[in-house]
Amino acid sequence: MSVSKYLVAIFGGAVSGSEAAYQLAERGIPSVVFDQNALPYGKIEDGLPKWHAKLRDKEEERINSKLDHPLVTFVPSTKLGEDIQFADLIQMGFSAVLLAIGAWKDRPLPIEGIDEYVGKGLIYQNPFIYWFNHKHEPGFDQNTYPIKDGAAIVGGGLASLDVAKVLMFELVEKALKERGHEVDLFALDRSIAKVLNEKGLTLDDLGIEGCTLYYRRRIKDMPLSPGSPSTPEEIAKAEMVREKILNNYQSKYLFNIEPNQVPIDKIVEGDQLVGLIFQKTGLINGKLELLPGTETAIRFPYVISSIGSLPDRIPGIPACGNTYEICDELFCRLSCYPNVFALGNAVTGRGNIKESMEHGREIAQNVIEGYLSEAEGDPNPMAKDRIAQALNKLENEIREHKISTAQYQQIMGKVKAYQEKFGYDSNFRKWIDSHLPNRLENILDSSH
Ligand SMILES: Cc1cc2nc3c(=O)[nH]c(=O)nc-3n(C[C@H](O)[C@H](O)[C@H](O)COP(=O)(O)OP(=O)(O)OC[C@H]3O[C@@H](n4cnc5c(N)ncnc54)[C@H](O)[C@@H]3O)c2cc1C
Repeated sequence: MSVSKYLVAIFGGAVSGSEAAYQLAERGIPSVVFDQNALPYGKIEDGLPKWHAKLRDKEEERINSKLDHPLVTFVPSTKLGEDIQFADLIQMGFSAVLLAIGAWKDRPLPIEGIDEYVGKGLIYQNPFIYWFNHKHEPGFDQNTYPIKDGAAIVGGGLASLDVAKVLMFELVEKALKERGHEVDLFALDRSIAKVLNEKGLTLDDLGIEGCTLYYRRRIKDMPLSPGSPSTPEEIAKAEMVREKILNNYQSKYLFNIEPNQVPIDKIVEGDQLVGLIFQKTGLINGKLELLPGTETAIRFPYVISSIGSLPDRIPGIPACGNTYEICDELFCRLSCYPNVFALGNAVTGRGNIKESMEHGREIAQNVIEGYLSEAEGDPNPMAKDRIAQALNKLENEIREHKISTAQYQQIMGKVKAYQEKFGYDSNFRKWIDSHLPNRLENILDSSH
């Protein structure tokens, strides 16, 4: 007799994808987790700057323990849109598909034609941090982004402060080395000011001007603290916290900041971007406005744009502007595809581990409760009414998307072929151990 069951495909095995796989597994629902990379760590490995070594190791182990579940099948180095086309994935017949592929495309700097200067005066944050995180590894090109003094950064969120830190670390480390002082990244992360102080030096002594972060609003508006304050007291407190965070960063890492500045045009010489025209902003009747007659030309060796990340476009996936076209917010269900759902950074667009994990968990639970299972237990009481409504709508589809044992075996046969293509023998821990890159802290330890 053929027994019906479920099998879910998850693309992206990092914070949100692994959480979704774990939530499904806990409910007895098997999943196949595909990741484009050999390691399923996403922004934890390639976005979170490498001085967060402890946080990275902790989060990566969390991901490992979720993906190492017997009901989770991992498929490395398999990219949706390249190794598997979206249309073919739909044909494979999974009960549901979850897209947890994060947000890897930098939001374009909104100046017409500026992307022609990528690599010629314009750098985007995602490839820059990727390079920084890996440049110490053997065989990696150290000089992809030569660090220069006086660089500009356009941004304002936490990731742009990390970009400012990287530039300052690299400048100070090099200048100190030239004077015979060896300092490592981890000491500089504790405080550049302290390191310099202990050596009786200042940035001026080292001839460093520093990088400058340009932010479009006031410092007290910077998105540096979580939560959404709404009452006047909460807003005043949040503004105070943001100013404090920024002061703390600046006093430790010594970069410059110019608030209320928006880039409005480019300055080009030959085929190089050599500067930007900035215009001041101000609040007029509570609205951020450009102030006429305040344009200034700022020249720099290059600018790093750090104004947010968007999910990559994948051929066949319906998009709406910069994100996927979602037709049902409770499930983050894709338009036109009743059994395809998006989660994590791919939807939240917010760069935060906790939010990505919670979004992964929440959507996985909603999908399980509303779509896959025949409602075991009570759904999250807060979403109960919405889930009940959605269930009414989805009931027929739920019945349609169970798969038979034969279909299950057929899909798993294809999955095995993908695994074999990259020599993955289903030993998850062994695979991870053999693909983990050489860590900077280990290189430093062994050189001491
Ligand atoms: C500079 C920087 C600093 C940060 N600092 C912090 C911090 O201090 N604290 C904090 O909480 N958060 C921080 N974050 C954010 C945090 O790292 C992310 O929010 C979180 O890791 C995102 O998880 P995710 O699973 O949604 O997405 P991702 O980590 O992006 O995972 C997506 C996964 O999908 C895979 N994938 C992508 N496309 C495809 C495809 N087509 N096919 C198959 N697989 C695919 C990727 O390889 C990846 O493994 C920072 C981020 C950055 C960039």
